[in-house]
Amino acid sequence: MTTQTIPTVTLNNETTIPQLGFGTLNVPPGREPTPENTAKTAEIVGLALELGFRHIDTAQMYGNERGVGEAIAASGIPREELWVTSKLGNGNHRPDDVPRSFDETLEKLQLDYLDLFLIHWPVPTLYDGDYVSTWKAMAELVDDGRLRSAGVSNFHPDHLERIITETGVVPVVNQIEAHPYFGNAAVIEATRSHGIAVQAWSPLGQGSILEEPAISEIAATKGRTVAQVILRWHIQHEHIVFPKSMHRERIQENLAIFDFELTSAEITAIDAIDKGESGRVGPNPDTFAWIPSTETPHPA
Ligand code: NAD
Repeated sequence: MTTQTIPTVTLNNETTIPQLGFGTLNVPPGREPTPENTAKTAEIVGLALELGFRHIDTAQMYGNERGVGEAIAASGIPREELWVTSKLGNGNHRPDDVPRSFDETLEKLQLDYLDLFLIHWPVPTLYDGDYVSTWKAMAELVDDGRLRSAGVSNFHPDHLERIITETGVVPVVNQIEAHPYFGNAAVIEATRSHGIAVQAWSPLGQGSILEEPAISEIAATKGRTVAQVILRWHIQHEHIVFPKSMHRERIQENLAIFDFELTSAEITAIDAIDKGESGRVGPNPDTFAWIPSTETPHPA
C-alpha cells in the first residue's frame, strides 16, 4: 500500500486533502501531555506515517500535538506531502486567544504552517453564544498566510448558516460524528448544501459497530474485516475519515481499503442500520461545553 493509492478530495478553496487519514484522539490513552505520553504519541504516529498515512488529525484538546510534531520531524517526509489538521480548544474561543493558541499549536507541531485548523466545537452555551467572532479570527489566520484552510467541527445547520451569513466566509470542512449507527443525514445534507466537505469522526463508532451482524455478513462475503467494510462505506459516501488505532496490524488494515468496492445493495444494507439519535457515541454539539483543565475557562 503506497500513499499514491489514497484518493484526495478537492475542498472549496482548491486545496486537496487525502480522503483517509490517521485519528489521534486518545493517542496515547489519555490527554495528559506528560513526557511519557508525548513519547508514546510520537511512536504511534511515527508508525502510522511509516505504514503510509500522510494525513494526521490532532487537536489542542487532545494534549498530544507535541508527540505528533516529534513524529513528523523524525519521519523525514517532505512537509508538502503531509496534511496536518488541528483544532481550536473550547477554552480558546476569544478572538485574541485564536492566534495565540494557533501559534502554540504550530510550535508544538514544529511546523511553520498548518493545512487545516477547525473550531473544534461551537460551544453555543459559552462566550454568550458568540462563535461568529471566533470564526472571523480563524479566517484571519488564513489571510495571515500560516494556515492554508479554516474549517469547523460539530457545527449544526443553524451554526453553519449563522457564520456564513454573518461573515461571508464558508468553512472548507465540517468535521462531525457520522458512522453506520449514526448517519447524521440532516447535518451532512446542510453541510454539503454550502459546498462544505464532510469529515466523519469516529468512523468506526469508537469500535461500537465492529460486532454488527449486518456488516459482519458483508465482510465475510468480501473476505474483508468489519472495520474495512465500514471504512469503505464511508469512502463510497465521500466522507473524509481518519480512524484511530494503536496497533500495527489494524493501522495497516485500515489503509487497505482501496482495492475493493461495496455494491449499492451492500451500501443500502449498511445505511439501514442507522439508529438515529441513539446511535451517537459522542456529545451533542448543542450542549457540549467541556473545557480541559489545561485551557483557561472563559467566565461567560
Ligand atoms: P474510531 O471510530 O476511529 O474508533 C477507534 C477504535 O476502533 C479504536 O480504539 C480501536 O479500538 C478500534 N479500531 C480501529 N481500527 C480497528 C480495526 N482495524 N479493527 C478493529 N478495531 C479497530 O474512533 P475515534 O478515535 O473516536 O475517531 C477517529 C478520529 O476522529 C479521532 O481519533 C479524532 O482524530 C477524530 N475525532 C474528532 C472529534 C471531534 O469532535 N471533531 C471527536 C471524536 C473523534
